[in-house]
Amino acid sequence: MLKVDGIRTFYGNIEALKGVSIEVERGEIVTLIGANGAGKSTTLMSICGVTPPRTGSVVFEGTDVTRMPTDRIVALGITQVPEGRLIFPGLTVRENLLMGAYLRKDKAGIAQDLDHVDSLFPILKERRTQHGGTLSGGEQQMLAIGRALMARPKLLLLDEPSLGLAPIVVENIFEVIKKINAEGVTVMLVEQNAQMALSIAHRAYVLETGKVTLSGDAKQLMNDPKVKSAYLGLD
Ligand code: ATP
Repeated sequence: MLKVDGIRTFYGNIEALKGVSIEVERGEIVTLIGANGAGKSTTLMSICGVTPPRTGSVVFEGTDVTRMPTDRIVALGITQVPEGRLIFPGLTVRENLLMGAYLRKDKAGIAQDLDHVDSLFPILKERRTQHGGTLSGGEQQMLAIGRALMARPKLLLLDEPSLGLAPIVVENIFEVIKKINAEGVTVMLVEQNAQMALSIAHRAYVLETGKVTLSGDAKQLMNDPKVKSAYLGLD
């Protein structure tokens, strides 16, 4: 479904990605794990056109999307939930969700998807008229995921959904990610919480200073001595 081939992405002269290659098959949850600054967010942003790679390519369902404007990439079916959620604090929960559907014209489909998001996150239904800025961190993360779903993505890119949230809230969000995936949305998940990420992913890639250093079946990587000591805090 997605083929990222040897991408190199720069911030000015800083080479954040030094030739990253990743493949995602339809229906998978693929996670990218790695330390702070390894290039995980940059990889997601390079896929969805926010920080286009200087060289290498990103091909989605046979279409070369490298350096395509982000709105066209969204229209093709890739939506990102950015790190830090970036919801609109002054808009209501319902308005935030509708922002996710801004490229769509199918009113009936939009209404159906609003119902679907309400069923995934009942708390958002309760809070529909509240401003986004009044929600708790966990509710804001749910809103950010719900808003992304309103674009009806085929591939959902999630950047650190667990960041700053209590363990119980993280578990809830990861359950919903599994459900979204079971309903047919392919997921690419960036996480510092490697334990949680590997527990729901089919496959994983380990990034270190802009390069993929390990990849494979998520359950196998969980037992890899290097992953255990570096990312799972186990000896
Ligand atoms: P984190 O978990 O901290 O987000 P990450 O693995 O997602 O880490 P990136 O945010 O992709 O890492 O950063 C990769 C490298 O690019 C780091 O060295 C970082 O300092 C650098 N970088 C990221 N954003 C910028 C920017 N806007 N300008 C300059 N350098 C940046």
